[in-house]
Amino acid sequence: MAESEAKRELGARFGDRLVRGFPLAELTSFHIGGPADLMLAVEDEQELCDALEIADRCGLPVFHLGAGTNLLVSDRGVRGLVIRLGKGFERIDVMGTRIVTGAAASFGTLVEFAVKHGLAGLEFGEGIPGSVGGAIAMNAGAFGGEIASVVNAIHGVGQEGKRRSFDREEAGFAYRRSGLPSGFVVTMVDFELKSGDCEALQARVNELKAKRAARQPGSLPNAGSIFKNPPGKFAGRLLEAAGIKGMRRGGAAFSEQHANFIVNIGGARAEDVRALIELARNRVRERAGVTLEPEVRLVGDW
Ligand SMILES: Cc1cc2nc3c(=O)[nH]c(=O)nc-3n(C[C@H](O)[C@H](O)[C@H](O)COP(=O)(O)OP(=O)(O)OC[C@H]3O[C@@H](n4cnc5c(N)ncnc54)[C@H](O)[C@@H]3O)c2cc1C
Repeated sequence: MAESEAKRELGARFGDRLVRGFPLAELTSFHIGGPADLMLAVEDEQELCDALEIADRCGLPVFHLGAGTNLLVSDRGVRGLVIRLGKGFERIDVMGTRIVTGAAASFGTLVEFAVKHGLAGLEFGEGIPGSVGGAIAMNAGAFGGEIASVVNAIHGVGQEGKRRSFDREEAGFAYRRSGLPSGFVVTMVDFELKSGDCEALQARVNELKAKRAARQPGSLPNAGSIFKNPPGKFAGRLLEAAGIKGMRRGGAAFSEQHANFIVNIGGARAEDVRALIELARNRVRERAGVTLEPEVRLVGDW
């Protein structure tokens, strides 16, 4: 009842932009995932407030999708409403050593922009795919850097449809996660960077690009590292020692190049990937006594 009311109200507000049964495999880097019951791309903050307010009032579950590069979406898909930020959230502005960016801007574009303007602090992000909003939610990081270290303030909309802001401390960042409230959608991020030399920054970016290219599987669809590194250890090394490389289920396999990546070698289903995740966790637990925690987020109806 509440769900049909939500669908009716959302339909009245957004018309045929509200899409039923959207195939999420098209929007994930794994190319895996069933349909979203309802999918909506919002183009400004007021639209986001309205969509969240309606869903919250009617008890419709909401999932916020970034660029889909850290997700394993179930084969059955996602119930309720999946919201994405549209092109209206891609703007990037610079003011001295501050950059203010929309959350739908690509993280890679932001890194390039900062380097071009001689601003230091985001070089670690070279090669991390996804959106700025997703990078905040995941506290994305690499090569000893993480996005939390350059965040000044985060703006967005809470689950109930009201605008809210958080400074870095309030955002509660930790390793590969933020402590932002559940259901909060990041719409804009204010970064504080340091002045740097464009050429030196570009050289550092090129160096990290080469390191990444040497370590990661090339062209097959994946979602980056499957497991977080446990304290003081590398998940990839534990997986390699447990003989996981190359292990296969259906259309999914642990990469031969990097043991902490699962790749879609063709027609992989979410269940194939999940089975590999469980198998690898059990093996590493038995052999090394360490319980690996997934970095990739499992989403939807399992
Ligand atoms: C080849 C490859 C390499 C990678 N390398 C790295 C790496 O080196 N380091 C690293 O940290 N990650 C890495 N990743 C993982 C991934 O790119 C990051 O986690 C990225 O920041 C996720 O952003 P996204 O927009 O794709 O988010 P999604 O995958 O769409 O979502 C991830 C989570 O963020 C939430 N989210 C997304 N946008 C918002 C928003 N605007 N507001 C609130 N919540 C939001 C989602 O609800 C979800 O819970 C890699 C992935 C791939 C495919």
